[in-house]
Amino acid sequence: MTNSKTVSWKDKWNYKIEIKSREKIDSSDVDAMRDNPTAEIYTVRDLKPTRDEIALIRVLAQAYNDLLRSLNYATIKLVHDNVHILSEAEFKKKILCSSPRPSLAALFSFCHCYVVRGSNRFVLELAHELCHYYGYFKLGVNIGATRREFGAKRMGLAVNLDTEAVAFVGFNEAMTELITHQVVEVALKNSLLPSKYKTVDLRSHTYESNIAILDYIGKKASGTDSAKESLFWSNLMRAYFTGNHKYMRCVLNNDLLWAVVAGMGCRDEDALRTAYALGSRALMNRIKKINTEVE
Ligand SMILES: [Zn+2]
Repeated sequence: MTNSKTVSWKDKWNYKIEIKSREKIDSSDVDAMRDNPTAEIYTVRDLKPTRDEIALIRVLAQAYNDLLRSLNYATIKLVHDNVHILSEAEFKKKILCSSPRPSLAALFSFCHCYVVRGSNRFVLELAHELCHYYGYFKLGVNIGATRREFGAKRMGLAVNLDTEAVAFVGFNEAMTELITHQVVEVALKNSLLPSKYKTVDLRSHTYESNIAILDYIGKKASGTDSAKESLFWSNLMRAYFTGNHKYMRCVLNNDLLWAVVAGMGCRDEDALRTAYALGSRALMNRIKKINTEVE
């Protein structure tokens, strides 16, 4: 069975914008939001993408759509205007200011991917942010008396409970990074990929401590059974691209595991605490080792 349907980026969302309070807001304002809920809000000054960068973005987009096709999901049209390549100064000034992680060189925000040109992990960072773009995304809008607040309701595996409280943050980033690597591996085989990007170091991961947790849960769930293992990953993949909780329930199949993983943030110490909650000394040691190697 093949799926030849292509949806535009806006159509891909299975969402209606949730507007919490409509009073004191001009209705044309609401309509504008509905038409373009994720307009670029930071007014960044993009660098003009080079031919190589355009080719790289195209190759990655193709690899993501091939992945969606392999899952029998509709492909997604990448809106190139939503991919912003920035100078480091512009990124720090306009994008990073709101992030608690000062070492970042890329960020996904309201379906726009922001990546610093010249970062030594450029290909992986771009591919990671694009992964968020291709993953499930649901938006919520709160309209208060004096300001309106946009927020993701769900992004991949992450579920926003409130503006600040997000469940499955670390789990989502780990999965994003694993899918990113899978896609980059495919992209590297594409003859249209400019040769300058072929030196990607696939051993380099962000969120490595979170990946260790995900890996541990996968191994626990499947043991040495390879069919169970592939089911574990395919359920996670489907949860990531559809936002459907039933796939998550298949993977985190008891309440305690669900609760422990839901609470894991994306910092190394969050992963360490999760390893402790899971009761694995070996896993704790693995995470501590990752952290000492990074330092
Ligand atoms: Zn991410």
